[in-house]
Amino acid sequence: MSIVEVANGLEKLEAGGEADTAVMGLHRRDVSDEQLHRFEQYAAEIFSAFGMELDSPATVDTPRRFVRALLDATAGYEGDPKLLTVFETECRGGPDCRLSQVIEGPIQFYALCEHHALPFYGHAYVGYIAHERIIGISKLTRLVRLFARRFTVQERVGQQIADALDSMLAPHGVAVYLEAHHLCTQMRGVQEASPLTRTTFWRGEYADNPALRSEFFVACGLQR
Ligand SMILES: [Zn+2]
Ligand SMILES: [Zn+2]
Repeated sequence: MSIVEVANGLEKLEAGGEADTAVMGLHRRDVSDEQLHRFEQYAAEIFSAFGMELDSPATVDTPRRFVRALLDATAGYEGDPKLLTVFETECRGGPDCRLSQVIEGPIQFYALCEHHALPFYGHAYVGYIAHERIIGISKLTRLVRLFARRFTVQERVGQQIADALDSMLAPHGVAVYLEAHHLCTQMRGVQEASPLTRTTFWRGEYADNPALRSEFFVACGLQR
């Protein structure tokens, strides 16, 4: 996705009024070509000092590719125009309304930890109990990636997914489960073998109903 496209996405989101720009933590990033060029020079200086040979055909463009890739990998700040659609349904009340879950996962995501700017990546499972609005299943994937493609921490990604769904859909409940590998612990430091960090977030009915939480994990195939 180009910078222009994501910027347009933000405009559309803002035009959407109560489109939850605040809860999604969106803001436009104004990065000029002149700045990008300067950042490439910084990157070149760091890579070269740390040992990269920058004059080979393979590496001569690496600083430029690195800066562009970093910009792209953090494009989640700028929104996603295709997220806007939510559909009206009708809450018919009764047990269905408070118990019927919509569950999607595993949704692959990639994020950058804000402590080291190194990747953490894994899977998200998202569930909700609809009331009067539903969201297209593919939008759940977009929502996860919107919050993952930033400098962030796993806890915040989960909270933001839960809060955004809560605000967009006003559902009876939201469940979010994330499991991720953190390269900042695997590539350096303690170098644990292959730890998986797991986080859960519950809103609404899920917070009060342990049976719903179990059902969510079973449906996700996570109950072993
Ligand atoms: Zn880290
Ligand atoms: Zn309802």
